[in-house]
Amino acid sequence: MLNKIISENNIQKAKKLIDKSDKIVIVTHLSPDGDALGSSLALYHFLLELGKSVNVVVPNNFPPFLKWMKGAKDVLIAEWKENLARELIRAADLVFCLDFNTLKRIDRLAPFVEQTAAKKIMIDHHPGPGDFCDVTISHPELSSTSELVFRFICRMGMFDYLDRECAECIYAGMMTDTGAFTYNSNSPYIYYIISELLEKGIDKDAIYDKVYNNYSESRIRLQGFLLYEKMKIFREYNTSLISLSCEEQKQFQWRKGDAEGFVNIPLSIEGIVFSALIREDEDLIKISFRSKGTFPTNQFSAEIFGGGGHLNASGGEFYGKLEEAIALFEEALPRYKDLLI
Ligand code: 5GP
Ligand code: MN
Repeated sequence: MLNKIISENNIQKAKKLIDKSDKIVIVTHLSPDGDALGSSLALYHFLLELGKSVNVVVPNNFPPFLKWMKGAKDVLIAEWKENLARELIRAADLVFCLDFNTLKRIDRLAPFVEQTAAKKIMIDHHPGPGDFCDVTISHPELSSTSELVFRFICRMGMFDYLDRECAECIYAGMMTDTGAFTYNSNSPYIYYIISELLEKGIDKDAIYDKVYNNYSESRIRLQGFLLYEKMKIFREYNTSLISLSCEEQKQFQWRKGDAEGFVNIPLSIEGIVFSALIREDEDLIKISFRSKGTFPTNQFSAEIFGGGGHLNASGGEFYGKLEEAIALFEEALPRYKDLLI
């Protein structure tokens, strides 16, 4: 049996809002990852089964290894169709905010969500939820927002409306947010949920294959280059840093999502507990942090780069030169020595 996590009050309020809404929009965070897209499309399939008119709207495009998900081709990418995104959110009865905790995380969609008259429901697992929704279902203790969507549907007593497509998306989100169940995944309930998803007919091995064995040749070569040429190890701080410039991305025929997962690799080196990837983008520097154990990457990210996230996985942005972001990172390390060794 699944334990009860979501409060009865939140379930009843959310159920009422769904019942009286016809036009529903689901939004998720900038640069959607497997959990963002998986949870959003899972909820999309579920709401379609209920006979609702539903749209998933994302701020910008998502990587090719997530395009196989059923419904992915119907996702509206606001970067390309901003007017339509604005209009859908304006005209909605209900907006679901999935896998993000503050409006800043949805970038260009933030003013639309802030200004719409629609009711809002947050379903998320990031610490520190903002106060911008009518119903806030926030559970940072869970593996993923996708797990939370599964629990949400079950608790509403609507498990029969969770179809195979929905189950596939939930599995993909849970899998990607736990590194294929290698971290953040000790809760026995995760495996109870997986067994339920298998009963719905998912092929979990095929999903793994579609997500993790689907890279371009140049992406694998980029990985080799970064690990051989670019990875810097700071032994005195048990830390690793990989930086990646626009020039290097061009050299390896960069496609969106190509750096996904690289930041985890140095944590497989004995003794390394903190890993950073600093990547130059067109108009900003994007930073990813991962850690093993107790090192609070989200605190580091918030204090040094104004970012945030989870204890072991977080990120931030920097506006300036790549070299400046690297210097900021390296200068900060000594101040965190006690937490790193
Ligand atoms: P990733 O490294 O995969 O881009 O992000 C890992 C996690 O860090 C995300 O799930 C999200 O919680 C958080 N994160 C990434 N970038 C940012 C950011 O710019 N600001 C904040 N507040 N959190 C971020
Ligand atoms: Mn997530």
